[in-house]
Amino acid sequence: MNKIEHLGIAVKNLEAANEIYTKLLGYQPYKTEGVASEGVNTSFFTCGESKIELLEATTKESPIAKFIEKRGEGIHHIAFSVVDIKAEMCRLEKEGFVLLNQEPKKGADNKLVAFLHPKSSNGVLVELCQDIAE
Ligand code: ZN
Repeated sequence: MNKIEHLGIAVKNLEAANEIYTKLLGYQPYKTEGVASEGVNTSFFTCGESKIELLEATTKESPIAKFIEKRGEGIHHIAFSVVDIKAEMCRLEKEGFVLLNQEPKKGADNKLVAFLHPKSSNGVLVELCQDIAE
């Protein structure tokens, strides 16, 4: 793991949350992006070497909708930057972590991503992300 790539925050309304985080950080998000396969709209703010990702559900079946229903708005996941996502997935599985996807998938912000089940990491959903080479 290199660094915390971003913190994911589940929000009910992306537009309203963008305004709040713009005020909080003092600048606008650098991008907003929908990820249809995950049923989310996202926006990203830089914060030093890391980022803040705001996530809004676009469908009732979206993991973000389910999260907010259960736990309300708040921190949803921690994403760590990795150089070789497949190698990290393999290493972590051997260490006993539960992978939520067996193959890396295309996530927001030009990344390959994989998730670890919160039950294997003290209640925190962990995302691994690797930059997709351009
Ligand atoms: Zn994320």
